[in-house]
Amino acid sequence: MPATELLLATGNPGKRAEFRSLFGGLRLRLLDPDPSLPECPEPHGTFVENALAKAREASRHSARPALADDSGLCVQALGGAPGVRSARYARLDEQGSGDGAARARQDDANNRLLLQRLQGVGDRRAHFVCVLVALRDPDDPEPLVAHGWLHGHIAAAAQGQGGFGYDPLFVLPQQGLTLGQLDAEHKNRISHRARAAGQMAQLLQAFWGVSPTAGHQSL
Ligand code: IMP
Repeated sequence: MPATELLLATGNPGKRAEFRSLFGGLRLRLLDPDPSLPECPEPHGTFVENALAKAREASRHSARPALADDSGLCVQALGGAPGVRSARYARLDEQGSGDGAARARQDDANNRLLLQRLQGVGDRRAHFVCVLVALRDPDDPEPLVAHGWLHGHIAAAAQGQGGFGYDPLFVLPQQGLTLGQLDAEHKNRISHRARAAGQMAQLLQAFWGVSPTAGHQSL
């Protein structure tokens, strides 16, 4: 049986590499999106609606099954903010060009704003969430939906140079380290994305009949 084709509906090459590694145990042919795929707006108030919108758009554009994700940081004392607005929490005047330097400036501004909002706040609990949605076609009435969470708290100051986004502020209680201080391999084993991908791998096998690659047990 040929491998199931699945378009990875993210313009972020780092995420695509991570998904290729996370789904490595399944007979899937993971395809890159066409560079002409327009960036899908994320106007919705929930992660699941944004991920569904991205998957639908990509599936319609490519006429293939598609997988999309949406993720963010939710801080308890801020009522779940920055939440679905995590990527652009701090409003910068520049248009997000998406290049590395612009992304680093945006991440830095987001982190500074988060620390400012939490000044004097004792409850620093926070979690990352990732939602993955897979669709067979744009009108698939039964999207596969997987969730992953990572719980921790927000540090008093940034620590570590690794990762991206809020990693330097996000402390894992067990390790007493921020995600920015962990190596990428360690983070990718425990992250919200890894947990959502593990759940999605189960759903793909159970509902789409995707089989494990030779040498892999059922995931
Ligand atoms: P998106 O899923 O690409 O829309 O990501 C939304 C935003 O959430 C990112 O731009 C980051 O600010 C934040 N975020 C999501 N996952 C992570 C993570 O693993 N580490 C740090 N920040 C993250």
